[in-house]
Order: sequence, then structure tokens, then C-alpha cells
Amino acid sequence: MILFAVYAMGVWTLAWRYRRRWQGFAAIVAGIPPVLLSVRLDVWLVRVLFDEDAAFLYILGGAYAGLLVVIGLALFMQPRPTPGHACDGCGYDLRGLDHGVCPECGRGDERGASSPPAPHPAGSLPAALADARRARASNRFSAVTTAAPASAARPTPHHEGPPPASAP
Ligand SMILES: [Zn+2]
Repeated sequence: MILFAVYAMGVWTLAWRYRRRWQGFAAIVAGIPPVLLSVRLDVWLVRVLFDEDAAFLYILGGAYAGLLVVIGLALFMQPRPTPGHACDGCGYDLRGLDHGVCPECGRGDERGASSPPAPHPAGSLPAALADARRARASNRFSAVTTAAPASAARPTPHHEGPPPASAP
């Protein structure tokens, strides 16, 4: 029984991996004869060894073969993701996006995975955040450079003691 399950999983795996390709269809078609042969062999063995008619094995074998074909075709008919257009993670259509990062699951496509991360394109949120950081940094820098001469030229801002009395 385990063998039958493993066999079916093998056929279905091929049908899925080569879905919408002739190899996938060939895997399903090629998966049928071994099932029928093994059923015939089992019936023959039962007749020889136990002298019994095991015609019910044909029904079991037929049901098994039918399941194999139906599920195999269902997997085979699943759409293939167009390379470079669909997310590897969730299949989301990435066409029209200027970056390869999926907005659904955050995963990068093959381009993003094989090459170092590209600088954020202008106009994106990360780019805006980077600009803001740069702007803050340059503001701090200019404040430090302009503070020294300004404080030297200005009188001390904190005046101790009472304000000078106005003339009577
Ligand atoms: Zn995704």
C-alpha cells in the first residue's frame, strides 16, 4: 500500500513540476500502464497461489488509476508562473513594478536575489526616508559650523542680574 502511495506521489510530483509541459502529460500517461500491469500480476498471483478469483482487484486498480489521472491532470493544468513576472513566494503578478520586491509578501524576485540590492528608486518611500535622513544630517552639520561665529559675535544670551534701569 505504501508503494502505491509513493508511486502516486511520484507521478503527481512530475505532473506538477512539468505542468503545462509535455513532460508532465507524459508522466501521467506513462504512469498508467505500470498500474494496470501490477493489477493483472496481482490477480494472476492470487489465482496461482490461492486459487481464488480476485476480480475485485481490477476495481481497486481502476479506482487507483482514475485517481492518479484525475489528480495528475488537475496538477498538470495549474498555471505556470511567467518567469520574471510572478513572485516566487506567492505568485503575485509583479509586472508594472519598477522594483522586484513583492508588495504581497515582501519577497524579492530572481533579479533581486542574484544581484546586490539596487539603490531605492527615486520617489519610493525608502528613498524619501533616506533623503530626510540626509537632510537632517546636513542641517545638524550646518548648525554646528554656523553656531561658533554667531555666538562669538553676539553678546551672551543669558544676562545675569536685573535689567539695566531705564533713564529717569
Ligand atoms: Zn509574493
